[in-house]
Amino acid sequence: MARYVYKFSEGDRDQRDLLGGKGANLAEMVKLGLPVPPGFTITTDACRAYLTEGKVPPEVRVEVTRRLRDIEDEIGRTLGDSEEPLLLSVRSGAKFSMPGMMETVLNVGLNDDTVHSLAEFADDERFAWDSYRRLIQMFGKTVLDIDGERFSEALEARKAAAGVRSDVELDAEQLKALVKEYKELVETETGSPFPQTPRKQVDMAIEAVFRSWNTERAVLYRRRERIPDELGTAVNVQAMVFGNLGETSGTGVCFTRDPSSGHSGVYGDYLPNAQGEDVVAGIRNTLALADLKDRDRGAYRELRTAMRRLETHYRDLCDIEFTIEHGKLWMLQTRVGKRTAAAAFRVATQLVDEQLITMDEALERVSGEQLGQLLFPQFDKDAARQRLATGMGASPGAAVGEVVFDNASAQARKEAGADVVLVRRETSPEDLPGMVAAVGVLTARGGKTSHAAVVARGMGMCAVVGAEDLQIDVAAKTITVGETTLGEGDTISIDGKTGEIYVGAVDVIDSPVMTYIAEGVEAARAKAEDDDTRDLVDAVHRMLEHADERRRLRVRTNADTGEDAQRARDRGAEGIGLCRTEHQFLGERREYIERVILAESDEARETAMAELLPLQRADFVELLEVMDGLPTTIRLIDPPLHEFLPDLTELSVRVALAQERGESGPEVERDITLLEAVRHTHEQNPMLGLRGVRLGLKYPGLFALQIRAIAEAVVELRGQGKDPQPEIMVPLVGSRREMHLVREQAKEILAEVAESSGQRLDLPIGCMIELPRAALTADRIAHEADFFSFGTNDLTQTTWGFSRDDVETEFFAAYLENGVLTISPFETLDALGVGELVRQGVEGGRATATGLKTGVCGEHGGDPESIHFFHDVGLDYVSCSPFRVPVARLEAGRAAV
Ligand code: ADP
Ligand code: MG
Ligand code: MG
Repeated sequence: MARYVYKFSEGDRDQRDLLGGKGANLAEMVKLGLPVPPGFTITTDACRAYLTEGKVPPEVRVEVTRRLRDIEDEIGRTLGDSEEPLLLSVRSGAKFSMPGMMETVLNVGLNDDTVHSLAEFADDERFAWDSYRRLIQMFGKTVLDIDGERFSEALEARKAAAGVRSDVELDAEQLKALVKEYKELVETETGSPFPQTPRKQVDMAIEAVFRSWNTERAVLYRRRERIPDELGTAVNVQAMVFGNLGETSGTGVCFTRDPSSGHSGVYGDYLPNAQGEDVVAGIRNTLALADLKDRDRGAYRELRTAMRRLETHYRDLCDIEFTIEHGKLWMLQTRVGKRTAAAAFRVATQLVDEQLITMDEALERVSGEQLGQLLFPQFDKDAARQRLATGMGASPGAAVGEVVFDNASAQARKEAGADVVLVRRETSPEDLPGMVAAVGVLTARGGKTSHAAVVARGMGMCAVVGAEDLQIDVAAKTITVGETTLGEGDTISIDGKTGEIYVGAVDVIDSPVMTYIAEGVEAARAKAEDDDTRDLVDAVHRMLEHADERRRLRVRTNADTGEDAQRARDRGAEGIGLCRTEHQFLGERREYIERVILAESDEARETAMAELLPLQRADFVELLEVMDGLPTTIRLIDPPLHEFLPDLTELSVRVALAQERGESGPEVERDITLLEAVRHTHEQNPMLGLRGVRLGLKYPGLFALQIRAIAEAVVELRGQGKDPQPEIMVPLVGSRREMHLVREQAKEILAEVAESSGQRLDLPIGCMIELPRAALTADRIAHEADFFSFGTNDLTQTTWGFSRDDVETEFFAAYLENGVLTISPFETLDALGVGELVRQGVEGGRATATGLKTGVCGEHGGDPESIHFFHDVGLDYVSCSPFRVPVARLEAGRAAV
């Protein structure tokens, strides 16, 4: 028979799945011999059974009876007893802590009779009635679903009538009257009197805790934190101890270290003569934990000993909830405490220094996400600010810039040297150029998975979305909030972490960790303003060094220009995994491509390309010089041709207008030819059309030009005594034959350049694996490729059949909402599907070519969870944006320990 209930003394901390976090840790404290009021845990199995069957399994009731009797025997009081009544707390506790999401009921077991026995037994009338009114209040709200406000109002009214400020000042008579009022409230709200049978109270409270798993806010919280819905919560039933028995009693919370700075010491709050949530609820001003020392030295010392034991045992920062009853300490909860990103790094290294954990373990205590947070620029704490509105912080960072409303102004102002914040009602893929030009993006609509948010996170740029108070008039170019109106060119500041929007420029500073990454440890230490900051810099430095030592994955970067490459190299990148050459054909050079496309004869085409050759060569010289000695993967031109041509509609209108006005001349002639070409190359579905290797095979001159430019750049740099290491990469390959054709052509060109320069040029020629067919036939393709690079962006698009540029708000939001996806597969690799293709690709490739070099380029290369996957499937490197390099180094190290 399934067992649903465990005494605290039967469990331990490894049983969080079954007992929930609170239950498992209570059990652990019992094992450690710490003073925990006796109790038991009803398992998450029982909760799941309740949720599927809609009722508590009868076995649970039977087991609860037996375990309740154990408690009664242990402490010699019984539930509902007329002399010494046992009181209980009924506490929720899921596997992952969901602060404030579910419910707890205290003082269960009190009724119109036992309240008198309690008063007599404790010799404290006031205490008894205070406990009873708390029970009715908590039970009413949590179990009976009565609006909590109603109770608070009654309490406030009572305090006002008595002329007192805090509830400890209410005397027994006043509390008695309050209880009467509460009971009436229960009866009018629910139609039945407050349940008087203690055991019935217990059963109802247990069921209510189960039910609270599915409250709206609990569901919402789980979605946000990616906690599975099917886990369920455990219920802990425990004998009450009382912090509200006067001045020698009290309740508090504490941390074994400061959770924001990480320092070891005495951190916590204590509230005398109080119960339960009083401390956090801010009802009265709490005392610092250190003050407890003067009030009750014995209890204080006992608590300090318990804190130290817990920290030694868990070997980590713990947070603790405790109660003191007439000078006796009781431990009510502990867990490994949440902490800020900075504290995570500091605590981890401090624990190493105290020789409580090893460096490997320390690596497990920090995450790439935390490091990422420490890299974002910050608003200067001391700066003055005027808040305009608050939206959702969707991608952290602090951005200050001129307001712009469209791509054109964003680009124009950026070129003029200004920082801009792109403001849109919502964004679409068309806004990408504006986003690229901007330092931040602000929208009035859309959530954390909206296009703006997803794209901004990918680019590591600051974003605030869904600021619904903003009235954005794109035509008039104004933002209005109440009385305030801002126009184009006005400066705003947005905080991508808090979602706050300020008028004017709030001062922004590089984070100390960013300074460390960009300028090195000495510079960062020198610039640090205080010891805490210096500690942080040191901690991050030590962790990254250790990660570098441990990791097997190399970390490269995606960079298209020498400038980007330099930045990434400074941050520890060990090569370039993806240089997108098409960026070099945009802007002013677009015309050259136009000429290539428009060429009427092979000769004309060749002339056009010959003009491009020196430009391309110069690009590669610049890049390879910066990356001297490090592998540099250059991808041959990838996107569809139309991206280099004018927009079809725009051009049609221009030509039509010119013709209507009877204009002529070379400009018009050119437009007409261009229009024909644009029509000609127009495709319904260009991303699945003539691009990548297909383009290379259709216009062989394009690839040839690039390969020659690479080869000549190598020759030039070697001439200067440098060591360029380019790798030529062919995009969008789906078959062995495609790769074969390109490779033959490339070899020929390399041989020519080798011959004329007298140098050996056997540059590696590999391909991207970004189509399912390539992954599935990797064993064949590997005959023609010196390396594979998984293009997981396109591979995700082509595996799911999602268009990355169009997934956008609507349907992705719906998919996240109804649980088809828990996160965008463009953000974290879909290990089950896309990941399986990566695995097959690696295996297939290496079956043909042992030790084939494999890597990944694409957003996933910088995503912590995906990096662990790439480590597991045995890739040689990941490549990510320069911004994510430190994060990838850390996570690759973590994957290896
Ligand atoms: P949460 O998960 O919201 O922290 P808890 O179950 O920890 O809820 O209960 C909240 C508070 O109620 C505890 O911090 C403690 O002060 C009080 N409490 C819970 N159980 C007991 C108990 N057995 N005796 C006295 N106080 C208790
Ligand atoms: Mg708690
Ligand atoms: Mg691609």
